[in-house]
Amino acid sequence: MVFIEPNVSDWDMEKMKCKYCENLCVKNGFHTNRAQRFKCKCCGKRQLASYKYNAYRQGISRDIISLTKEGLGIRSLSRHLKISTTTVIRRTLEIALTIKKPMISLAKKYEVDELCTFIERKSRQIWICYAIERITKQIVNFRIGSRSNKTLNGVIQTLILSQPKHIYTDGLRNYKTLIPKEIHKTTRFGTNHIERMNLNLRTHLKRLNRRTICFSKSLVMLSAVLKIYFWG
Ligand SMILES: [Zn+2]
Repeated sequence: MVFIEPNVSDWDMEKMKCKYCENLCVKNGFHTNRAQRFKCKCCGKRQLASYKYNAYRQGISRDIISLTKEGLGIRSLSRHLKISTTTVIRRTLEIALTIKKPMISLAKKYEVDELCTFIERKSRQIWICYAIERITKQIVNFRIGSRSNKTLNGVIQTLILSQPKHIYTDGLRNYKTLIPKEIHKTTRFGTNHIERMNLNLRTHLKRLNRRTICFSKSLVMLSAVLKIYFWG
């Protein structure tokens, strides 16, 4: 919320009409943003002459999406759009909820990899495991968690359901047990595309930048931001 006095002359203020019943209002103290507050003489409802909530500006969700993709974190978004951090967080989560995963087409080649980042504090490592389709570079699915079978399996199971031609991974041992031998490939340069995507992610998303003090405070937010970046 921005502290802007409503642009109403004194004369208007004297003759302020109630928004609900059109009767005459009288001055009644001040709003927390120091704007004159009014109270209706008839229905008793308190109101302001005009409201200035930047968060309700049109197109603010679109701004959040594009600026998130340009690498702005919560606090820089809040400064840039002049809305509070809590609003940025709430809006980001709302936007992420409306985004749906893309459909997976059958018999394609995929690359799977993990990306390390931190959550809450620098000592708490977390892994983003995700898969891209080799030709379109579309991100098919992702999971956030420890570098364990459970996290990896969340991604790999959806791939296996789509009857892929091959799944390319690095040499991590877990993959051997999770992916059927016939379609699993760990050839050299097999994961070039996804390694390149890792660099994109690290560059484009503030919270994934390396050697900075920027990282996500919560898993939910990290997941929401990734969803917006991948599919928003
Ligand atoms: Zn009224």
